[in-house]
Amino acid sequence: MLSAEQIIAQKRDGGVLSQDQIAAFISGYASSEIPDYQMSALAMAICLNGMDAEETAALTDQMLKSGTVLSWPSGPPVVDKHSTGGIGDKVSLVLAPLLACCGLRVPMISGRGLGATGGTLDKLEAIPGFRTDLSTDEISSLCDSVGCVITGATSDIAPADRKLYALRDVTATVASIPLITASIMSKKLAENLDALVLDVKFGSGAFMKSLAEARKLAQSLVETGRRMGVKTSALLTDMNQPLGRMAGNAVEVNESLEALKGTGPDDLMQLVIALSSEVLLLTGRATSLREAQTAIDDHLTSGRAIEKFHEMVIAQGGDLDMLRTVAPASEVVSNRAGCVLAIDTEALGYVINSLGGGRQKVSDKIDHSVGLEMLVRLGDRVEVGQPLARVFSDSDGASRGANRVRESFTIGDEPLKMSPLIVERISSEQP
Ligand code: URA
Repeated sequence: MLSAEQIIAQKRDGGVLSQDQIAAFISGYASSEIPDYQMSALAMAICLNGMDAEETAALTDQMLKSGTVLSWPSGPPVVDKHSTGGIGDKVSLVLAPLLACCGLRVPMISGRGLGATGGTLDKLEAIPGFRTDLSTDEISSLCDSVGCVITGATSDIAPADRKLYALRDVTATVASIPLITASIMSKKLAENLDALVLDVKFGSGAFMKSLAEARKLAQSLVETGRRMGVKTSALLTDMNQPLGRMAGNAVEVNESLEALKGTGPDDLMQLVIALSSEVLLLTGRATSLREAQTAIDDHLTSGRAIEKFHEMVIAQGGDLDMLRTVAPASEVVSNRAGCVLAIDTEALGYVINSLGGGRQKVSDKIDHSVGLEMLVRLGDRVEVGQPLARVFSDSDGASRGANRVRESFTIGDEPLKMSPLIVERISSEQP
């Protein structure tokens, strides 16, 4: 077997690493026999020279094996969704209970917001008492009794990823498709899933700015899922404006409650229905898209989905009847007339952060009461003095945020050619 140094050199020179070499390196890193500086060097070599599909799957497999893999008694399929993140993306809050209503088990392990992107756990913690630190045993027992949980990763899920991600963050090695793939998939596949749906976003509020980059990532994620025996589909979706009207924490919980009754904003409903339909198709719970959509619609309009959400919240210690404070609203108005041509969605995410709704660093505390409401969408015609958005904040924050919100809108004279929300589907299975 080659030494760590020889493995690094092989990747540096554009070689392909074997499964055994990857296994030796990652298990050595997880047990601290291989130091951070050698892992950093390999991460940079991967960043520069890439990995093929077989190497990427081997890396994912080793990272997931560095920790606990959930085990399930026989029963309904175990499924989950992952989103690459965006502004106003509250799909998880609606999708987990919805899929539980369809008789599936959903052990959704989610993350916190960092940078411009909001985090599912932060949103749920706007609900007084809601616990996001369930143990592995609690995840199993609630998936059995309720059907779904949404919680944070326990420290024993893919610990090699935790270590490597912190290293990548400070060594300029985050932007690598194989490293991103292994990081996302090791955490998700540690849930021991039967099926996984991925929402890979592109645009001004997404991690991947272009459709082409998002497509490459989606292909790599789906191929890795396929090689690891998990039915996997990805939808490529537009994040050139916030999803739904609300962005923030308490306000997104409120909008999710509307969506759980089937009365959320159109774009949010479209994405929730498309992603959950995909899961029903992957698991054979529906044989056509129409059948899947009908079943989902029925769970939403009958009240079963919102009832399931209440059940999950109570099981995780939360109280939806207790007040979720929303800060006072003030409007940001347009200073020109025209058509909304572009929205710097990432900038809006940073405005929410600066109001206290997100973090600059992991240890920052969150103010769940602040946020934004979008009052216009791409392609809308606006007049001078027309409100573009509402800022929920104290008056200091609102006056600091107002200009930045206004500046994030590009308003011009030409009409905008609208693109669809869901652009493409990539799947390990037949359409
Ligand atoms: N999200 C992750 O979990 N890992 C990455 O590498 C990038 C985004």
